[in-house]
Amino acid sequence: MSVLNYAENISESLLTTFERNAIFRKIAYFSMEIGISQDLPTYSGGLGILAGDILKSAADLGVPLAAVTLLYRKGYFRQELTEEGDQVERPVEWEPEKLMSRLDNRVSVELEGRTVQVRAWGYVYVGHSGFPLPIYFLDTDLEANSPGDRSLTWELYGGDNRYRLCQEMILGVAGLRILRDLGYNNIKTFHLNEGHAGFISLELTRELGYEDFDKVRDEVIFTTHTPVPAGHDYFPYDLINSVVGESNSNRLRRMLGGGGVSMTELGLNFSRYVNAVSKKHAEVSRKMFGTEKVDYVTNGVHSTTWTCPGFARLYDKYIPAWRNDPSRLIQALQLPDEDIWKAHQAAKMRLFARVLEETGEEFDADVLTIGFARRAATYKRADLLFSDVRRLLDVCSGQVQFIFAGKAHPHDKPAKEIIKRIFDLAKEIGAAIPIVFLENYNMELAQVLTAGVDVWLNTPIRPREASGTSGMKCVHNGVMNFSVLDGWWIEGWIEDVTGWSIGPAPHEADLIEYDEMQDAQDLYNKLEEKVIPTYYSDRRKWIYMMKNTIALNASYFNTHRVVKEYCEKAYGTIFRAH
Ligand SMILES: *Cc1c(COP(=O)(O)O)cnc(C)c1O
Repeated sequence: MSVLNYAENISESLLTTFERNAIFRKIAYFSMEIGISQDLPTYSGGLGILAGDILKSAADLGVPLAAVTLLYRKGYFRQELTEEGDQVERPVEWEPEKLMSRLDNRVSVELEGRTVQVRAWGYVYVGHSGFPLPIYFLDTDLEANSPGDRSLTWELYGGDNRYRLCQEMILGVAGLRILRDLGYNNIKTFHLNEGHAGFISLELTRELGYEDFDKVRDEVIFTTHTPVPAGHDYFPYDLINSVVGESNSNRLRRMLGGGGVSMTELGLNFSRYVNAVSKKHAEVSRKMFGTEKVDYVTNGVHSTTWTCPGFARLYDKYIPAWRNDPSRLIQALQLPDEDIWKAHQAAKMRLFARVLEETGEEFDADVLTIGFARRAATYKRADLLFSDVRRLLDVCSGQVQFIFAGKAHPHDKPAKEIIKRIFDLAKEIGAAIPIVFLENYNMELAQVLTAGVDVWLNTPIRPREASGTSGMKCVHNGVMNFSVLDGWWIEGWIEDVTGWSIGPAPHEADLIEYDEMQDAQDLYNKLEEKVIPTYYSDRRKWIYMMKNTIALNASYFNTHRVVKEYCEKAYGTIFRAH
């Protein structure tokens, strides 16, 4: 990728320039994971890739922002699957020294009574217009630290609650100290991407003279991503006491009261602006947190990262302004049908070459192909499709092919069982309905998948999908969504125009139980009555829908729009126009 080569050559000198210009950066973006490219395995899934996409658009738009995360020397694991469909986790070997610059700056943070030294690696992402955006990766793997402390920044979402608390102290407290050490003394907004970096407010409280909570609030904004209480980090005070020390522990008690430390509560109570990541998610969050203070900025994806080469060429020809202004994709209705179809078939064949190489299965480019790929979390219900196998065979035999992918978190047994179940079913019914599971879902595979299938399936349990972003990658490639009405899809869905819904329309922010079989039945019915007949018998309408998907969805669900919204609503900064 040109970005990487560029960064290798210029990183060092650019970073020196940054230290001189740090004073002009007004926004610091903190995230537990950041996914910028395939070569930096410092992300696990949607949250990190969203962070990366936002940073890319911020660089494209010239927003004066710097970002902080952890280094994760061991990466997030590489997934292999045995013949039986059991997930095996392999470490990812990577060498930060080849991609980033090691900075000399050192700060320290007190953890469990020890002084842990922290340094940072600098990486520069350069936007389309040449505007550079620095990302700092924190690292405790220093000789000065004990072996246990050296491993604190090795693993993303590894270890126990204590390990996690240490990492969050490093991100929030050491992260802010590193920025100060680098000369970032004019930050007006600390943006917490999820609660993990909430300890920034602890450090700001110390900087600002201990008790001036209003001043702290004035400097922080908080984006929540989790629509269920169980998904929020929570640390009991006995753990807090032993890790952060007495004075910090006392300060946290003054900030939050007794009980324990909920990172979400810290984010909510110590920020001037709070947002959810879709309209529906805002409603759910307001109810869950019992406050009206939650606004929303619906997520997006970085358009040029997620548009496949064939479609990028088409857009360049007919809508040249799209690279700097993806909202222009609204003009996609004028793209010639034939060109759209060719671009799509090219992406489909690229995906099928991959399928053949990796699985030995030969997929047919004239057969309707449905994709499902995301973290294998149980609420995402990758196996809803198989709730009624006889009906599935009835509807899809000889007419549909399926491609699955997704990693299960190493400790998530039920998710691993879902992968295995799909594996078993693929063997059982593969003669009638070809099904493959591709290993090691990551950014690169996501690019190939979200461009190469005909339809993208998403069947989460409502209202568990805060936003979802993979479907937005698809719409940049004219791939239609066929999805449960949750997260972003409620805002993007126009039936028979941008795709199809599954299950009932959403009512308020209800977290009530509902009959899950209803979703499965609706899925089969719509496949039978709409998706399959349109694909095979009404190609004109299909292509009309592809164009509308690009025009109505890609023009809006992109991170250029997201970053502009953050500037207007949350940062109080105007982006540098071109
Ligand atoms: C986009 C992406 C995700 C997030 O997809 P969701 O639809 O939000 O679940 C996860 N993993 C990878 C590798 C991705 O590219």
